[in-house]
Amino acid sequence: MAEPLLSVRDLSMTYVRRSSLFGRRARNVAALKEVSLDIEAGETLGLVGESGCGKSTLARCLLRLLRPSSGSVRFAGEDLLSLGDDAMRRMRQAMQIVLQNPFSSLNPRLNGFDLIAEPLRAHRALSRKEMRDKVVSLLAEVGLTSDFLGRHPHQLSGGQAQRIALARALALNPALVILDEPTSALDVSVQAQIINLLIRLQNQRGLTYLFITHDLSVVQHISDRIAVMYLGRIVEEAGSEQIFAEPQHPYTQALLSSTPAPDPGGRRQRIILPGTVPSAANPPAGCAFHPRCSHVMDICRTQYPAPRRTAPEHFVSCHLYDSAQDMESNSMHNLLDKDAQQ
Ligand code: SF4
Repeated sequence: MAEPLLSVRDLSMTYVRRSSLFGRRARNVAALKEVSLDIEAGETLGLVGESGCGKSTLARCLLRLLRPSSGSVRFAGEDLLSLGDDAMRRMRQAMQIVLQNPFSSLNPRLNGFDLIAEPLRAHRALSRKEMRDKVVSLLAEVGLTSDFLGRHPHQLSGGQAQRIALARALALNPALVILDEPTSALDVSVQAQIINLLIRLQNQRGLTYLFITHDLSVVQHISDRIAVMYLGRIVEEAGSEQIFAEPQHPYTQALLSSTPAPDPGGRRQRIILPGTVPSAANPPAGCAFHPRCSHVMDICRTQYPAPRRTAPEHFVSCHLYDSAQDMESNSMHNLLDKDAQQ
């Protein structure tokens, strides 16, 4: 079986937070705990969870903008955590990121031409004419005309600015694009346009996406598989249709309850979660979701639930499924690795 384009195993990220005025009291904050995931070339993995659950930290660890504390990240067959800085800089051409707010990610002093040409100037030797042609063709790919060459970010709408950010991300022909809440700052009608554009670009270029969002309904149509994250851990993962048809983790069920039901006229019963995601500096013992869970049992307060396989490609970490297949491992993907070897 071909190796996935991106393969993450047991990735943990702990940092030290100093809390007193003089920084004497330090506390370890576990932002990511034993995260494992695979993304095959050409597919979209939706990564969903509330703000503060570790999604963006994971994105930054994958690009090695943050150094994980342990675990491994393989991309296109390379072990990213052991690459030298120059090799990693070259590798980042194939791994681009698009952020939530284009107005803070785009340099306000540059116009459309320079914003898109900047990565090309750094990594490609193009003549002036080749550069202009390339920038105009990238603009066309994201649905903008050459009128936007001279416009600065403050002269753009949110949707137009996000299209420029996308064109800039595509300039170096990446294989993987990490989309970190790319539609959260946009109006609902513009969100749909950007999602459709992303799907079209993926079909035309064979792109692979990691689509990060707090809103399950946004990733429903674009994702092949969905991973749900809570306080630094992946708590459920399955195919997109399967998650929407049969969410198993109580947290996923609550997230999903705010999205429209699949059948027209159908209704989901809204589940309102009490409280917010707890601080990673002081996580609850056992299952970190237990203070908010309506199904909580005694065991949930003391023991973290090992991931269980409840269907061929459906995994969940919840004591409600303790009778399902024992993974004999702290990682659902380690089990898939074992399956692949057999
Ligand atoms: Fe709820 Fe317990 Fe499952 Fe956690 S392990 S989600 S507290 S039932």
